[in-house]
Amino acid sequence: MTYEELIIELKTILGVGKKAAERIFNKLIINPTLFDSLENIFKEIKDNLHQCPRCLTLMHNNFCLFCHNDLRDQTKLCVISSFYDVVKIEATKVFNGVYHVLNGEINVKNGITPDKLTFYFNFVENSWWNKKIINMTIWKIILFKIMILL
Ligand SMILES: [Zn+2]
Repeated sequence: MTYEELIIELKTILGVGKKAAERIFNKLIINPTLFDSLENIFKEIKDNLHQCPRCLTLMHNNFCLFCHNDLRDQTKLCVISSFYDVVKIEATKVFNGVYHVLNGEINVKNGITPDKLTFYFNFVENSWWNKKIINMTIWKIILFKIMILL
């Protein structure tokens, strides 16, 4: 694999630009012990972190910090576009409800319609959230950062 191909792979895997990929490559070449650290991080992610099947946030060792937490207000649902939004909201320490991650944003121009997001599947299909809404147990739904680009 050539240098250019490695940079393209790093860009793709890490979702960064060319300059960031080159900086990471340079850092790895200078300090090869970082390969072991990265290997451990990726193994931890692969083995122990998964999306919760209910809310699509992250589960650690099959335990969801939100769905399996009695201290969270299960009647407040915050609908967000990505897990990164959960991190940002949790950092504010003002929301104690639960989340639903859409795994994307509505963008009609690019063909991302509501049926392409997890919201559609989880609410329209016979899901846990659907049953919860039908039973009127969720009284407040907060929509956070849903962008409709025309
Ligand atoms: Zn969950």
